[in-house]
Amino acid sequence: MLSNDELARWDRDSFMHPSTHLAQFARGEAPQRIITGGEGCHITDRDGNRLLDGFAGLYCVNVGYGRTQIAEAIAKQAHELAYYHAYAGHGSEASITLAKMVMDRAPEGMARAYFGLGGSDANETNIKLIWYYNNILGRPEKKKIISRWRGYHGSGLMTGSLTGLDLFHKKFDLPLAQVIHTEAPYYLRRPDASMSEGEFTGYCVRQLEALIEAEGPDTIAAFIGEPVLGTGGIVPPPAGYWQAIQGVLDAHDILLVADEVVTGFGRLGTMFGSDHYGMKPDLITSAKGLTSAYAPLSASIVGQRMWDVLARGTDENGVMGHGWTYSAHPIGAAAGIANLKLIDELGLVENAGTVGAYLNRRMAEELGDHPHVGEVRGEGMLCAVELVADREARRFFDPSEGKGAKVVAAMLKRGVIARAMPQGDIIGLAPPLCLSEAEADQIVETTREAVREVLG
Ligand code: PLP
Repeated sequence: MLSNDELARWDRDSFMHPSTHLAQFARGEAPQRIITGGEGCHITDRDGNRLLDGFAGLYCVNVGYGRTQIAEAIAKQAHELAYYHAYAGHGSEASITLAKMVMDRAPEGMARAYFGLGGSDANETNIKLIWYYNNILGRPEKKKIISRWRGYHGSGLMTGSLTGLDLFHKKFDLPLAQVIHTEAPYYLRRPDASMSEGEFTGYCVRQLEALIEAEGPDTIAAFIGEPVLGTGGIVPPPAGYWQAIQGVLDAHDILLVADEVVTGFGRLGTMFGSDHYGMKPDLITSAKGLTSAYAPLSASIVGQRMWDVLARGTDENGVMGHGWTYSAHPIGAAAGIANLKLIDELGLVENAGTVGAYLNRRMAEELGDHPHVGEVRGEGMLCAVELVADREARRFFDPSEGKGAKVVAAMLKRGVIARAMPQGDIIGLAPPLCLSEAEADQIVETTREAVREVLG
């Protein structure tokens, strides 16, 4: 057993953490937290703090911490068969069963599930499948992908390009040329304050149409979007958005990828965000909620119209050269089965809808009128409080003031974890789907106190 001090030193000296200020961390200037356990919506750290996790890790521990059913399923699978690959028609009982369970839950019109390890690799797979699809259809020019500013789709080369946040591009030579970005459906940041939500949707549609026209519809393969913008600020779309966007895509034979890494498997109070907004995707990206992060696993869910062409492609060209060693890993699949069963048994999709609505309503009641709160917004078990310098003028704080991070730090002091979203002063909340009303009250009360402490 390591002493805490040794662990802390090893951490600073050996471990390059993701999404971290590397130099400050190595010098001991940035905080360090070593997590030791979790139960329900709470985690504990090595210093003995018990914290209410209002962000479910990285909006992924949907069933909550400490679920022994999933731990036991993982252990059983590891004893029986820890690994075999899925290439050339191989599989395990777990991976086949999970594929069936995913397809039983997927929106109408979906045909197959391809398993990877995380959201980034699933989106990487999706883009390759789209390019393959258009090559099989004899449309080699139709390859560009439209994403939205503030979208988040991962941090690989292609997926980091799809992501529309400066932090993920700066100094990485991204985005790659095949990726172009369009307007974020972010009503608070609409270009003209007098626009109604419907008018802003019309504006987003016109921006998309103009981009497609400028680039040439024959060069555009797909549009990718999260049903609700996540890391870009937790922003539900303006009224009528998805229906209107779908119309533009259909008119130009452009595929739709619904990135449901956050929304898949219940977070919006429906099994998928596509069901929630009536989207008709050709591909769905899912990861986090598939296993509630008890093991790494993603699923690219392929729609029928793509599946038919992909299958034809292999008849014409032979085996599809795409796969990872750990595709459909049996341990991840066992975790996924136990997780999806638990979501059903505990009624967590429904709970996300009801307690999520309660959380959003209570937050709006407590903070909606605060002079430095521009908006309280959310959908299902997602909630955000956006801070502004001037509410009437929609003037935002200078990012260097770090107001959002200060509020999140003040919340942490009071025992609640929220996330300072990376672009803007936005306090993000995405608790486990098993959150109770009492826990929602604690989150709201803590946010209110922290906002008062920092902003008066
Ligand atoms: N897509 C969305 C919508 C996400 O929120 C994320 C991660 O937060 C990803 C993709 C990338 O997933 P991962 O971090 O598992 O690669």
